[in-house]
Amino acid sequence: MKKVLISGASIAGQTLAYRLTKHGFHATVAERAPVLRSCGGSPAVDRREFT
Ligand SMILES: Cc1cc2nc3c(=O)[nH]c(=O)nc-3n(C[C@H](O)[C@H](O)[C@H](O)COP(=O)(O)OP(=O)(O)OC[C@H]3O[C@@H](n4cnc5c(N)ncnc54)[C@H](O)[C@@H]3O)c2cc1C
Repeated sequence: MKKVLISGASIAGQTLAYRLTKHGFHATVAERAPVLRSCGGSPAVDRREFT
């Protein structure tokens, strides 16, 4: 099984991981933000909260 490392656990990273997993890849998602976003919308992590 091919392995991929994805930087960023927001909408694009999680979507890519999901799709690649469906196509037989082993996806690992790395996220630098220590906390979840507190604002609305689809993003999971708010980079503004730790910069
Ligand atoms: C104030 C504001 C309000 C918004 N409101 C809406 C809304 O209501 N509806 C809507 O559809 N869109 C909204 N958007 C737009 C939406 O946030 C973006 O289009 C969307 O988040 C882009 O997703 P993304 O996964 O491409 O990037 P991002 O959401 O920017 O995610 C990138 C992630 O990668 C992480 N990252 C970056 N570098 C690294 C690294 N080197 N290693 C590990 N992790 C890393 C970041 O911490 C972040 O979590 C809003 C944007 C802003 C700024």
